[in-house]
Amino acid sequence: MTHLADIARRYGTPAYVYDLQAVRSAHADLRTALPSGTELYYSVKANPHPDVIACLAGLGCRTEVASAGELDAALAAGAAPDRILLTAPGKTEGAVTHALTRQVTHFSVDSPTDLARVAAQAERLGTPVDCLLRVNADQAVPGMGLSMTGTASQFGADASWILREPHLFQGGELARVTGLHLYMGTNISDEERLLRQFTIGVELAAELRSSVGEHLTTIDLGGGFGTPFARQGDRPVFASLAGALGTVLDSGLPGWREGDITVAFESGRYLTGDCGHLLTTVLDAKESKGTHFTVLDTGIHHLGGMSGLRRVPPVSPDVIEVAAGGEPRPAAPENRTPGVLAGPLCTPLDTLSRNIPLPAMEVGDVLAVPNVGAYGLSASLVAFLGHDLPAEIVVDAGRVVSATRLSLCRRDALPLATGTPHHHLEGVHA
Ligand SMILES: *Cc1c(COP(=O)(O)O)cnc(C)c1O
Repeated sequence: MTHLADIARRYGTPAYVYDLQAVRSAHADLRTALPSGTELYYSVKANPHPDVIACLAGLGCRTEVASAGELDAALAAGAAPDRILLTAPGKTEGAVTHALTRQVTHFSVDSPTDLARVAAQAERLGTPVDCLLRVNADQAVPGMGLSMTGTASQFGADASWILREPHLFQGGELARVTGLHLYMGTNISDEERLLRQFTIGVELAAELRSSVGEHLTTIDLGGGFGTPFARQGDRPVFASLAGALGTVLDSGLPGWREGDITVAFESGRYLTGDCGHLLTTVLDAKESKGTHFTVLDTGIHHLGGMSGLRRVPPVSPDVIEVAAGGEPRPAAPENRTPGVLAGPLCTPLDTLSRNIPLPAMEVGDVLAVPNVGAYGLSASLVAFLGHDLPAEIVVDAGRVVSATRLSLCRRDALPLATGTPHHHLEGVHA
């Protein structure tokens, strides 16, 4: 690929670099790991860069979006409206209308209230819509990372609730309930564990179909395919998953091979994680009361922002030297000393790592954080402290194909509320 050092010189740092060849390889590997005849969604929240969305849509992925903004990003990148699924536990009327007026008619619904809200807009606009019921399994998958199911959760409806009161989840004339959505966890790198998760999902889907109805013909089993984040290491390859999954589907959802049932999977991080590097420059290096501090031109406003707030485990990224004209080069372990890797923000929370052995770094050195193509920029605190966002450089076949920078701007003034008692946010996206 284009040398990271050349990109840093040409565009400056901080900069995210995304390599579309890596996206294609990840997609090919994931397709191979899934039974043929199944669908795959790209979850835009991992990386909403238009070139990344367009690349994956071009490879045949459907697109999973979670807001009107992501929906617009998908459409702008060329995703077909009838291949977009809108999911999210709190959909406003405005977001539903936004989707319907753009011919996006596939929704994942999280509760009877959510279903009724989608149905009301479908009726109002006379547009038929297909809804997947998002299900919160009653059983957690043991040993999962960020668990989004099996525990009390804002996501979906408990399986036991659907089984107890199936009439609440029937939908209506225009809002047809056509399937189930089971997204049970994320960042699982162990093939056995993935298979266990999907087995639980398939068994649950079969039970719900026999209780709620055989008209539930789309079964979205979620994903959770893991890959390293901000650390060195290779994306795992799930060599024997496809065969094992096929067997699980044969027993739980017979008819899927004939197309009587559509089986779908979702992935964000696996498809885009290893396509991205974050380039950064050392701005300062100093001692404070016996601790070494390295201050970078990037921090929690560009990477792992929520971990900066100690809400999720710290990122503790690997930083690798970017030598002029060369590839990133990890420092030998013996050349590392413990220290704090800090960003430039005016808050002590802006540390990417603490007391982790770091390579010797001098002011002006360019470093790269690997494996940050997913949940990098878009998952960070980009508005905090008003720094420029990093450039985003897309390379393909060794060439730079786009170089852009997102910016936050204050839009036109909104009407003042004086004398108008009922302002609400609906229509903000109209
Ligand atoms: C976030 C999310 C995904 C993507 O998860 P990854 O770990 O990035 O693969 C898929 N589906 C749903 C419903 C999500 O919320």
